[in-house]
Amino acid sequence: MQKYICAFDSGTTSNRCILFDEKGEIASVAQKEFRQYYPKPGWVEQDANEIWATQLSVAVEAMQKINITANQIAGIGITNQRETTIVWDRETGEPVYHAIVWQCRRTAEYTDYLDSQHLTGWFKEKTGLIVDPYFSATKLKWILDSVPGVKERAKRGELLFGTVETWLIWKLTRGRVHVTDYSNASRTMMFNIHTLQWDQEILDMFDIPSCMLPKVVNCSEIYGVTDKSFLGAEISIGGAAGDQQSALFGQTCFEKGDVKNTYGTGGFLLMNTGDKPVESKNGLLTTIAWGLDGKVTYALEGSIFIAGAAIQWLRDEMHLIDSAEDSEYMAKKVKDTGGCFVVPAFTGLGAPYWDPYARGTIVGITRGTNKYHIIRATLESMDYQVNDVLQAMQADAECKIHELKVDGGASKNDLLLQMQSDILNIPVIRPKCVETTAMGAAYLAGLAVGFFKNKEQIASLWEADHIFTPVITEEQRAKKIAGWQKAVSYSYSWAREN
Ligand code: ADP
Repeated sequence: MQKYICAFDSGTTSNRCILFDEKGEIASVAQKEFRQYYPKPGWVEQDANEIWATQLSVAVEAMQKINITANQIAGIGITNQRETTIVWDRETGEPVYHAIVWQCRRTAEYTDYLDSQHLTGWFKEKTGLIVDPYFSATKLKWILDSVPGVKERAKRGELLFGTVETWLIWKLTRGRVHVTDYSNASRTMMFNIHTLQWDQEILDMFDIPSCMLPKVVNCSEIYGVTDKSFLGAEISIGGAAGDQQSALFGQTCFEKGDVKNTYGTGGFLLMNTGDKPVESKNGLLTTIAWGLDGKVTYALEGSIFIAGAAIQWLRDEMHLIDSAEDSEYMAKKVKDTGGCFVVPAFTGLGAPYWDPYARGTIVGITRGTNKYHIIRATLESMDYQVNDVLQAMQADAECKIHELKVDGGASKNDLLLQMQSDILNIPVIRPKCVETTAMGAAYLAGLAVGFFKNKEQIASLWEADHIFTPVITEEQRAKKIAGWQKAVSYSYSWAREN
């Protein structure tokens, strides 16, 4: 009987289920979007029950598509949108409030206050993170403080907290298992990445009762089995990891110094830093890549706010292209950008510049500049931003990065990746299967249930589709990077009041 490993990929806008066979190849996919709620400017919420219902329904659909039964599924691995915060009643399973999504800025004033109290260093030392509404802790505090009666119920031990993987595992096991994995725990701003415990001092500061927190477990181990009523049989749940860490695992970045970048709406670079956390001096986050067999592997993470989103801007606001794919052949109509640079600092600049007041800029326009130059320069802006973060990573980790593995929607663009290799001066490698996020979860679960033997076997399944190597000279590269840096400097502080 043919067996499969199942990945639940619970993303920010949709849930997917992918079934992989023993060769690590995709056998079936189902996907369904769920609703986003924007109750106020800057606020983002989702209905946790809808996340669960859509995730379960795509699992059923993926199985039906290839006509298999639950007995043919060796195990389930979960990867998820990180930091999104859910609180629910441990008896009824009813959420006390909508899920507060990672993008939600409702606690910005409070984190500004924490900053003003000079607590940034204190949090960074413990959690590896900067103080920001992005992470779960202040979202959880907001629910406890703002939803009537919730603080008291939590203190009485009636409520549970979880990020999305915790919620899905709890639902799948009908409330029998309340766990989170190391990678997701490390994004909550409550987890001490050195002691590998929930940090009691942080919990005290936020008045968060520890009885509502999940047990922290490895990213690959059998947490429990699904209740028979859901998929027709009990299935082992054997893996969990946050989406970016899962992609790092899916790219088989198992060795210290291995790096991947995901080109989605934003960009996410992660570097495996081995068994020691590396503190960043360049605005990167220190986080946990995964915990395997009780041993934790750390990562450095740098995010780019606007990556593929700049291509959406070309399409939806500028109407220069009809589809994201068109950006490639349109950009190829010119041999270079003609000295033009687009800095897509639409929402400020992240690492290593950290200027929330920076705004988008186009510089170097001449009488001969046309839309193809602008399109090409927008594509190139993704490459320069990746280079900026990668240089910061090299400086922090004090090592040289030898190659970059890539995935995400925009990684289909050959020109983008060729220019990436040119700017970085290292090979850029795109795998055959770019569903690396789901693959990571499938690998983690597969290791736990014996579907895959070990990491070496997994590494042998990973195949390159295309390796892009640098073709420009050192002089050309230096000139391009200097031009970009000058362009970035023109975008600084634009939105500052005075
Ligand atoms: P997310 O997971 O963040 O929703 P995806 O990984 O699905 O993102 O990638 C979608 C992003 O990639 C969009 O911002 C889109 O503009 C960009 N994109 C998709 N295809 C291409 C392409 N061929 N060239 C450049 N950008 C692309």
